[in-house]
Amino acid sequence: MKIYKEGEKSRALCSHCKEVVPTTFKVRDVPFSSGKGQAKDILVAICDSCDKLVSVPQQSAPRIREQRKKLVRSIEARVPKHLYDMLLVSYDEMGIDSSDKVAPIVRYYINEYKMNFRKSDFAKIINSEHIKGKASERVSIKLSESLFVEFNKLKEKMGISTTDLIKTFMLRFYDDIIEKKQTARQMDKLKSIFIVAS
Ligand SMILES: [Zn+2]
Repeated sequence: MKIYKEGEKSRALCSHCKEVVPTTFKVRDVPFSSGKGQAKDILVAICDSCDKLVSVPQQSAPRIREQRKKLVRSIEARVPKHLYDMLLVSYDEMGIDSSDKVAPIVRYYINEYKMNFRKSDFAKIINSEHIKGKASERVSIKLSESLFVEFNKLKEKMGISTTDLIKTFMLRFYDDIIEKKQTARQMDKLKSIFIVAS
C-alpha cells in the first residue's frame, strides 16, 4: 500500500476541475458516504487549484470506519403512560434493572425481526388496544449508525411510523415476558441477551 504523508504532493483527476491536477495531502473533515455526518481530521488529497477533495487514500479508510461506528443517532417518540408501565412490569419480571429502558429493547428486537420477520406479528400488535391512548411519556433512544439504518429499514418494510415501531417493540416485549409465560431456562437466555443489548 502506498502510504502518504501530510503535505505530500501527488497528481489525480479532479471531478470539479475535470482534469488531472496537482494535489496536496491535507487533513480535512470528510462526509460519510451515507451523507449524514462527517469523519473528522482525515488525511485526503486536495486539489491545488480548486481546494476540493479529490481522493481518500486507502490508509484513511480505517479511521473513517472507526468514527462511523461511534456515530450515535437519536430517536425521539411519545408513547402512552400505560405502555411504559407495561415495559417496567416486564423488566421487573425479568429481574433486570437497566437505567436505559427502551434502547435495549429496540436493539434486541431490531435483530430479532431481522432474523425472524413475520408481517402478521406486526398486524396483531398494531391493532392492539394497548397501543392506543394519550402519548404522554417521552422516550429518547440512542442507536449506533448501523442499528439506526436497520431501524429505518424495518420501518419502511412495515410502512409504519417511528413511534408505532417503538410501541410495537414495547408491546412485543411485554408479550414475550409476561404473556408467554417463559420457562426459567428461556428467561435466563433472554436475560443474557438483554444484558448484552443493554
Ligand atoms: Zn480541482
